[in-house]
Amino acid sequence: MRPPRFARDLADLDRMGRQAKTWTCPRCAGSGTLNRHGRLRGWGEGAAGKQTQRGQRFYCSKRGRRHGCGHTFSLKLCTVLAHASVRSAELWRFYRAKLWGQSVLSAWASLRSRFSLEAAYGWWRRWQRGQCALRTHLCRGRDPPETSLAEGIQAAFGPVDPIACFQHQAQRPWPGSAS
Ligand SMILES: [Zn+2]
Repeated sequence: MRPPRFARDLADLDRMGRQAKTWTCPRCAGSGTLNRHGRLRGWGEGAAGKQTQRGQRFYCSKRGRRHGCGHTFSLKLCTVLAHASVRSAELWRFYRAKLWGQSVLSAWASLRSRFSLEAAYGWWRRWQRGQCALRTHLCRGRDPPETSLAEGIQAAFGPVDPIACFQHQAQRPWPGSAS
């Protein structure tokens, strides 16, 4: 079984992590070679200056009699965005404000965010890069939504934290990351 990419919460992350021996390595496809390899930490949604857990690292062991490849990969919480410190719920609040008519500046100001305005412009570029892939994902197997893309996302994944819900359900990153 290929490893999952997103966990619902910390308890889910821990539960999943204990099944690593049943996974195959995403790099070399070896089985029984994966070990937990420390927490993935970074700036979280908590107080500024404090690090929180973003996920769990795994290591494909080539030590001893194991024949792994030495590759590491991580399983992330579904609220974590690749290459960004902002978490999913705050990012969606920003997108909602912007998509329902505010400028980047006023959408960012209404968040009272600890992130910079420059970061908010980066979030908006991420949306622009990802919207085509999002549209494709939403329309797969059904008629295109007649509503706007943002309304379609909320209808499919709920209004509160649809980005986390997307990452958890689809087991793939929210589209639009720079790399
Ligand atoms: Zn491997």
